[in-house]
Amino acid sequence: MLANGRVHPNGIVHAPAAAEIETRTPVIRVTDLVKDYSRGTNVVHALRAVTLQVQAGEFVTVMGPSGSGKSTFMNLVGCLDRPTSGSFLLDGVDVPSLSRSQLADLRNHKLGFIFQGFNLLPRMDALDNVMLPMVYAGVPGSVRRVRGLAALDAVGLAERAHHRPNEMSGGQQQRVAIARALVNAPSLILADEPTGNLDSRTSVEIMAILQRLNRAGATIVLVTHEPDIATYSSRTVAFKDGTLLSDQPNRRIVLASETLAEWPAEEDAA
Ligand code: ADP
Repeated sequence: MLANGRVHPNGIVHAPAAAEIETRTPVIRVTDLVKDYSRGTNVVHALRAVTLQVQAGEFVTVMGPSGSGKSTFMNLVGCLDRPTSGSFLLDGVDVPSLSRSQLADLRNHKLGFIFQGFNLLPRMDALDNVMLPMVYAGVPGSVRRVRGLAALDAVGLAERAHHRPNEMSGGQQQRVAIARALVNAPSLILADEPTGNLDSRTSVEIMAILQRLNRAGATIVLVTHEPDIATYSSRTVAFKDGTLLSDQPNRRIVLASETLAEWPAEEDAA
């Protein structure tokens, strides 16, 4: 049985029921999270006592102007940096108290990352790229292959398993990166402007895949500058000057599959 709405590499997950979500351990629980950077003799207050929870099964968009603290927040939640003060529980685990190797282990097992620039290794084919997080997690080779192919299948790219990144379009490369983010059945997928390098239609295709994974139970936190992209998520939090400016459920979630179905035909052919 998969715990806490974790996403299986094949994209099929037991999503928690609405009533269940309320009583479960949040995937993210940050309380009074502070991050200061020292710059010479000055201190930059990148995050000022941010308190926020994300429950399993949510799809949260993070917005805010440049310099508002989005990357700092994502780096902390992604266990890539440590807070100056405050508490952070990831799936109930007290992250700031962990050693470096425990943090790396936690990242491998509980988090999947998707980046604006895809970050695929150019000399490896799609399947090898997707299997890489399982190498770090110590998954046996035969299991890696089966799970890697299932993850590629979940993003509609099974037939491209042996293509290298430079033989694929940007949208296909981002789908490989999504498959890579899924393979260790993470508790949380962190996406940093995943559509920032893609054209409008391909961006909606990527959002359709993320919405499908979310409906299947994946918990997603996604940074974007584009208000249109936020309409596909279920909740939007906005940062300003290192604080939470707003935190709103999206009243009308747009279905990316419907946007695609209504896409003008002439652009479709382009
Ligand atoms: P955003 O992602 O919203 O653009 P950031 O989290 O990158 O915002 O930055 C928040 C603030 O922290 C900014 O004032 C930025 O200059 C500062 N900052 C971010 N990273 C560092 C760092 N490594 N050293 C010093 N200041 C930093």
